[in-house]
Amino acid sequence: SLDVRTWLVTGGAGFIGANFVLQTVVGGICVVNVDKLTYAGNLDTLAPIADNDRHRFVQGDIKDRKLFAQLLAEHRPEAIINFAAESHVDRSIDGPAAFIETNVVGTLGLLESARDYWRSLEGTARDHFRFLHVSTDEVYGTLGAEGKFTEATAYAPNSPYSASKAASDHLVRAFHHTYGLPTLTTNCSNNYGPYQFPEKLIPLVIQKALAGESLPVYGDGMNIRDWLYVGDHCVAIRRVLEAGRMGETYNVGGNAERTNIDVVRAICSLLDAVHPLSSGQPHESLITFVKDRPGHDRRYAIDASKLQNELGWQPSQTFETGIAHTVDWYLSNQTWVQRVLDGSYRMERLGV
Ligand code: NAD
Repeated sequence: SLDVRTWLVTGGAGFIGANFVLQTVVGGICVVNVDKLTYAGNLDTLAPIADNDRHRFVQGDIKDRKLFAQLLAEHRPEAIINFAAESHVDRSIDGPAAFIETNVVGTLGLLESARDYWRSLEGTARDHFRFLHVSTDEVYGTLGAEGKFTEATAYAPNSPYSASKAASDHLVRAFHHTYGLPTLTTNCSNNYGPYQFPEKLIPLVIQKALAGESLPVYGDGMNIRDWLYVGDHCVAIRRVLEAGRMGETYNVGGNAERTNIDVVRAICSLLDAVHPLSSGQPHESLITFVKDRPGHDRRYAIDASKLQNELGWQPSQTFETGIAHTVDWYLSNQTWVQRVLDGSYRMERLGV
């Protein structure tokens, strides 16, 4: 019916996309969730809404124009939000091709599907439609000790991952300028929180610390990232979707710059209190410095004042509250983690 709002989300079985879908479906909006279910896609994460009528999951690739033509005509969503991507920098160094295929070719396919659907709309449906592309601050390259990335910072991607995301951002921009597609782009800093795949720094360190294994830290541990709690990122995306100006980009950040070694130490001290090592040693004793990632950007920092001033968004969590909540979540959701680590989270997609 006309008063039920429907959004089409891609990549909604991944870390941020699934957090967004959970928040959105609980918030009363219908979501059509299209995800290819690569290694990063996890249907376990969507279990809380498995029986919810407002959620439809479809396994599919964002470049599949036939599938999207069909889904868009059937559900007539008022927005498309694109989370689908290959997202892990280290994997992009080992094998960049998959990053080009999904992040560049895939995004192009999705933009063409969105454009054709938008052109078919009339009246208010056409006026209300928008395409939101979720991207990263890594497109801006690296910073020295001073300064922050703003929306005006020139793109200078340094990894195959960030180069592929930069290309996708440019395609979104071009579809706005060339075809008039109503687009929005968000460029966000490092996310952390529930349901993050344990190859990423924070969940990796939590799991290894729980197992009493060594905690690998790249180089000298002094690389700086801005950290944003995933729930705050999801609120920002919704805010931009509902109130952002078409064709604009918005930086999203947590105002929480930390060196990697500080992040690891924060996790260690939280675990010391609740899960002491059997050796009696502090968890920090497990830290091991490993050979740096090639081309490792030194510092990222985000100026999110445009989003704050124009749309009134601010993060609700500090790094300290967010990391405490995250460590708690991993401690109470070890079944979710173990099913990722032993591979059983992939069984469902195979229909086993
Ligand atoms: P993720 O790797 O956890 O999830 C990506 C999801 O996309 C997976 O479920 C995967 O199955 C799906 N997918 C991959 N290729 C696909 C394809 N061709 N078609 C359909 N689905 C496909 O990633 P994430 O950390 O949740 O990141 C989501 C988005 O946010 C990405 O675009 C990423 O670039 C961006 N981002 C991430 C961060 C971060 O810190 N994680 C920060 C800023 C921006």
